[in-house]
Amino acid sequence: MPRSLGRSSFIAIAAVLQFACGTPTSESTSAPRDGQGASTSGQATTQRGSRSDRPAGTAGTTAADPIPSRCGDERDVLLHAYDTQGIPIDLDCADFTKSRGTRSLTFEAIFRVTTQPWALLRDPLLAPSDKWYGLDLLIEAYGAPRVVNSSYRDPVRNKRAGGARRSRHSFGDAADLDNATKSLEEWQRMWTAAEKASADYIEPLSGPCKLNCLHADWRNHDGGYRP
Ligand SMILES: [Zn+2]
Repeated sequence: MPRSLGRSSFIAIAAVLQFACGTPTSESTSAPRDGQGASTSGQATTQRGSRSDRPAGTAGTTAADPIPSRCGDERDVLLHAYDTQGIPIDLDCADFTKSRGTRSLTFEAIFRVTTQPWALLRDPLLAPSDKWYGLDLLIEAYGAPRVVNSSYRDPVRNKRAGGARRSRHSFGDAADLDNATKSLEEWQRMWTAAEKASADYIEPLSGPCKLNCLHADWRNHDGGYRP
């Protein structure tokens, strides 16, 4: 259910909440980041299970080791990166999608990366608005189309850009929505819409997005991944 914080709460919340996201280039590794120990959702926080799927002799794998072939495509690189970066998530090939969207947004509108085709998008982000949470409900509550600046960020790209290791963007339940006018008024309207969409974390103005975008994520909602 939407929480009852009013508009006047924005600044107070901005003062006390931690950073959440923003563009990867603005994420250093020295500040508290989104998702670090905060998520309670089952699949997103499960430690990777048995490492027995690795070929013999790869114990103690480092970034320089050969990448195990599990999916036979770019997903192998992504899965390997989750492993080597120690990101606590249990993934398989079928968790990645090339096509999932929402009722109001196509896959291409949500995932705007062109360097590789696979995205990890958790169910709560893509939930239909009659679930009373998720991106579609946020846009519905806002009352006008919204551009997604960034959603899923794979750990290879995220690391290269200096992003937070456990950003919720790498768990696939976060979105940064463009603030077209860069105005506080538009940003606050999106904040209110994100609250109505039961976002578990809404980045304050002090976060990396600043007035350029609004970060919302559904890290504590149940749900997994689908192709
Ligand atoms: Zn973000």
